[in-house]
Amino acid sequence: MRSIDPHEKLLDQIAAEARATAHLTERARFSPQVMAAMRAVSRDAFVPPEARSLAYDDRPLAIGCGQTISQPFIVALMTDLLDLQPGDRVLEVGTGSGYQTAVLAQLAADVCSIEVVPALAQRAATVLADQGCGSVALRVGDGGKGWPERAPFDAIIVTAAAPVVPPALVEQLAPGGRLVIPVGAASGDQVLRLITRGSDGAVQERDVLSVAFVPLVPGRPPEKDRDGA
Ligand code: SAH
Repeated sequence: MRSIDPHEKLLDQIAAEARATAHLTERARFSPQVMAAMRAVSRDAFVPPEARSLAYDDRPLAIGCGQTISQPFIVALMTDLLDLQPGDRVLEVGTGSGYQTAVLAQLAADVCSIEVVPALAQRAATVLADQGCGSVALRVGDGGKGWPERAPFDAIIVTAAAPVVPPALVEQLAPGGRLVIPVGAASGDQVLRLITRGSDGAVQERDVLSVAFVPLVPGRPPEKDRDGA
């Protein structure tokens, strides 16, 4: 009998959506590791109390400061496109609620995340620590500049839309690395782009799916590290 647990139902919906979009994404099934990470992380811990009853709906939700926690299917898709290996170093731009950060932390040893809004970064740090993800490195600042002191990264994920791909992020991608980023205007068409750097350093890109993200905003220079890096 099919489970009626909302978290399990959401995982079923993600799997169905993956099949329905496979002609665009070339991923009919997400990896068992990604699905296990989506199962392991409790999304309700990352949404504001008043939205808890909606935490396992497959849609973005407001998290304050005009920002949103991303749609779970998109979190799963972007994570799957990163093809993470356990020893990878990953950079996330746009910590937001910390939900995507926690999913990444299930899959990769070394997760770094940058958030431009200090209040969101602070709240995410608390929730991530509560959820057993205290080892992720968090920084307040403009993630469009990447995190040069920690580069290169095996994978980079940007969870806000940029009008053009920030060159610093491509530069900070290791050979064999993967960058997933929504590209487009704040209010217009956006596309999820996968950029890969070959082992010879050559960069290739592929547009995967139409998406709708909050815009990447120019921020202040990085100023505050939680782990002193
Ligand atoms: N991954 C988050 C998505 C949050 S929405 C989650 O699932 O909760 C996108 C986030 O990107 C917002 O929190 C926004 O403040 C942040 N952001 C926007 N521009 C940024 C920038 N230049 N550098 C870092 N973070 C940025």
